[in-house]
Amino acid sequence: MSDVRLTILGCSGSVPGPGKAASGYLVEAEGFLLGLDLGNGTLAELQHRHDPFDLGALVLSHLHPDHCSDFGALTVWRRYHPNPPFDVSEHKLPVYAPKNAPERLAKAYAPNDAELAETDLSDVFAFHVLNGPTRIGPFEVQAILVDHPTEAFGVRISHGGRTLAYTGDTGPCDSLDELARGADVLLAEATWTDAPERPAGVHLSGKQAGTLARRGDVGRVLLTHVAPWTDRVAILDEAMAEFPGARLVEQGATYEI
Ligand SMILES: [Zn+2]
Ligand SMILES: [Zn+2]
Repeated sequence: MSDVRLTILGCSGSVPGPGKAASGYLVEAEGFLLGLDLGNGTLAELQHRHDPFDLGALVLSHLHPDHCSDFGALTVWRRYHPNPPFDVSEHKLPVYAPKNAPERLAKAYAPNDAELAETDLSDVFAFHVLNGPTRIGPFEVQAILVDHPTEAFGVRISHGGRTLAYTGDTGPCDSLDELARGADVLLAEATWTDAPERPAGVHLSGKQAGTLARRGDVGRVLLTHVAPWTDRVAILDEAMAEFPGARLVEQGATYEI
């Protein structure tokens, strides 16, 4: 049995849905909790199973709101919780994110310019630029630039011979093949149904996610980031036509990698 586990904190694509959080995941091994995106509503789901102080590190694939909106809430949690289990200023949470994250996230948090001048969030977070290979806790993490309207990364997360590949948000691009190749589990965004008028460089269809899984010869494909206005069954049917074992993830579910 694998000792790497993926838990879905939220999987609603582009915006939260009714009772459904936007994108956020936990990847767990050796008792280490790696957060992977922290979209709207995911901090609530996280609290069903863990103390947010249990996070060992956080990766943000990109800085669209549906992937990082709850960062402000996590900031409040770490700054103002009345009974933190450790000295937060001495145990800053490592955050791996696109290079403009410290400035961008501080601006999203501070209500005015005066507070912004004294609020760079480095009192409770330790920011690292996400790009290329890095070790995070027990995981080898490879961040690969993908094709999206803002700087965005897919990530391969490996431990003990098992690999999870996560597309983040992306349109079809060559780097996705490098990302997916041979992964035990491909967590693939599938935002919309396949149609010729879809704009390039934004998202994958169910068909494109399934095709990526087949080309990459992955073990399993889990579909995520289906938008609330999209027909989930149509997305799944498209993906299964290309990769018969394709599944849609569910909020709160845990998967062995
Ligand atoms: Zn998104
Ligand atoms: Zn996005």
